[in-house]
Amino acid sequence: MMAAIRAAECGASVLLLEGGKRPGRKILMTGNGRCNYTNRRMKNDCFRSRETGAAMRVIGSFTEKDLIAWFAERGMITAEKEGYCYPRSHQASAVRALLEQEAQRMGVCIQTDCLVKAVSGSETEGFSVRTENGDIFAASRVILATGGKAAPVTGSDGSGYALAQGLGHSLLEPVPALVSLTAAEKFCRRWEHVRTRGRITLLIRDKKRAEAEGELQLASYGISGIPVFQVSRYASCELSENGKAGNKTARPPVKALINFLPEWTKEQWFAETAAESRWAKITVGQIFSGLFPDHLAEVLMSLANVHSGRLVGSLSEAERKKLWETCTSLPLTITGTLGFEAAQVTAGGIPTREVDLATMESRFCPGLYLAGELLDVDGICGGYNLQWAFSSGWLAGQCAGEAVR
Ligand SMILES: Cc1cc2nc3c(=O)[nH]c(=O)nc-3n(C[C@H](O)[C@H](O)[C@H](O)COP(=O)(O)OP(=O)(O)OC[C@H]3O[C@@H](n4cnc5c(N)ncnc54)[C@H](O)[C@@H]3O)c2cc1C
Repeated sequence: MMAAIRAAECGASVLLLEGGKRPGRKILMTGNGRCNYTNRRMKNDCFRSRETGAAMRVIGSFTEKDLIAWFAERGMITAEKEGYCYPRSHQASAVRALLEQEAQRMGVCIQTDCLVKAVSGSETEGFSVRTENGDIFAASRVILATGGKAAPVTGSDGSGYALAQGLGHSLLEPVPALVSLTAAEKFCRRWEHVRTRGRITLLIRDKKRAEAEGELQLASYGISGIPVFQVSRYASCELSENGKAGNKTARPPVKALINFLPEWTKEQWFAETAAESRWAKITVGQIFSGLFPDHLAEVLMSLANVHSGRLVGSLSEAERKKLWETCTSLPLTITGTLGFEAAQVTAGGIPTREVDLATMESRFCPGLYLAGELLDVDGICGGYNLQWAFSSGWLAGQCAGEAVR
């Protein structure tokens, strides 16, 4: 939608073909319906791609400040909390409606229920776009902004990859990112619905790959919550690679260590649980009930093999150590993710090296432009994926629009 608006602003006659009933459906789901559309902290380390720095090069052409001003000029005021930006109304529907109205105001012709099945041709002979209904449209320039495979219910079913591949592009395997992780351990069934502060450290073949802290959501299938989302793409990529190798018998390559007491030091723990400490005559159950939600406390005590009725002062050195280790580095064997249906974004896609990042034009097919999640860029949680979609869409629209003027 941003690409269409910008191309029209640049003087092009624009047709937006949308496979679903209305464009921008995914926006309605973003930020829990509030649309966290950008972030004041915009840095390279907020994006992942095979080409380091690709996202920030594009965002340099249409920055978070430009986006906030763009919305403000069109009547949408931003509310900011710790750098996270939302429409002040906290209604994602306001963002979707604004984009649709702005497209109409600029004269973009929007055709819905128009799933594109094939794009052929070239800049010199012109492009031909064929839809599922059998319609064929001619165009001198084409912008592909079909999204990835995440949340396919919103229309992004991955069909855009085949369109780009048909015009000469390659594909880095798309995998779910910003997604919940499944774990093999049976004790997960006992901590369903628990929300608690914690830190997750993701280990790939026993080496630390990523770490994040915040509110964890524990589930019968494994773990979820923003810190899990932040590290999930590494688990997803590794499990997909490992699966391809057919390496079923090897040791599981992905592990997570969960620290349920990230703000505690080991010294503090051993001082508080010493035989002569202020807690000596208090039960472990009572201490744990103040530290953790009940279902989690029960799991941790049973894994450490310490009964809740034991007095803290009666614990042996080995038991105090075991409790500390269980609470601060509980290992989980990560077996997979909840898949694209539950993912917020796709890692992988069309390689950014196959696009001129100054224009978003394809290096293989002049006259074709690519933007958004279709490309191999995924951001962390916090408004980065929409900023990437808006910046790359704006730039593609600008350059395609100027080219036909
Ligand atoms: C639950 C959820 C919450 C999220 N929250 C946030 C958030 O708070 N902040 C943030 O920055 N990001 C968030 N994201 C990610 C963000 O929404 C996406 O990264 C972004 O929408 C990608 O934009 P896009 O235009 O590239 O693709 P999409 O938004 O997926 O749009 C692609 C469009 O192309 C259409 N299409 C696909 N194939 C075809 C075809 N063959 N023919 C015609 N039309 C086609 C689709 O119907 C769709 O309308 C969230 C995602 C989800 C699922």
